[in-house]
Amino acid sequence: MSDNTTINNNLISIVQRISDACQRVGRSRDEVTLICVSKMNPAEAVIEANDCGADTFGENKVQELTDKMQQVGRDLNWHLIGHLQTNKVKYVVGKVAMIHSVDSLRVAQAISREALKAGVTANILIEVNIALEESKFGVTPNECETLIRSISSLPNLKICGLMTVAPDTSDPESNRPYFRRMKELSVDIASQNIDNVSMNVLSMGMSGDFEVAVEEGATHVRIGTGIFGRRNYTI
Ligand SMILES: *Cc1c(COP(=O)(O)O)cnc(C)c1O
Repeated sequence: MSDNTTINNNLISIVQRISDACQRVGRSRDEVTLICVSKMNPAEAVIEANDCGADTFGENKVQELTDKMQQVGRDLNWHLIGHLQTNKVKYVVGKVAMIHSVDSLRVAQAISREALKAGVTANILIEVNIALEESKFGVTPNECETLIRSISSLPNLKICGLMTVAPDTSDPESNRPYFRRMKELSVDIASQNIDNVSMNVLSMGMSGDFEVAVEEGATHVRIGTGIFGRRNYTI
């Protein structure tokens, strides 16, 4: 587990690298939001990162997210970045700033229903399986527009953009074409001016490839290991 100094140093370094990537392509640093992915790290790590200035956190499991929110007990921006089952929707609507992982009409309908009940608007992203990987969630790029059109009429729900988890690779450059295709898809959908749909958010890039993602237009990068250190999957 990382100590306080490590988290602080990691944050400084990641923010600098985001900033450098922005500069390389003429983007402004404030176009990119850093989501600190705290999954499998304790509430104390979130508190430490928050003390170092981070205020936006991501979790991939509903139970872990709601437990940690309560343990941390601070007013932070929480993002659900992992797959969401319909029966868990009620635990996150009204609690998170954004749900990144909508890939079916069914789950969108459940989110809409809960948001209506709670009297809130739920901000969602459509997850795209950009590399058509067998193991990944998300719609194919071809299915994306149709799903967005069918979701866009649901009440108390706002489609804010797209999200992808690019292939796991040791060569970040190999993901550049996927990030570029995500940006193109996002621009293409934005140009259709669908009611209730904006494409302001492009959530892509993780510890291994976020600089390339930023160069290709990411507005939100999701970084776990790069901030909190390697996760221990054996506990
Ligand atoms: C775990 C996770 C991340 C962060 O991964 P790192 O490689 O540790 O930066 C980003 N996005 C999703 C959806 C994740 O589940």
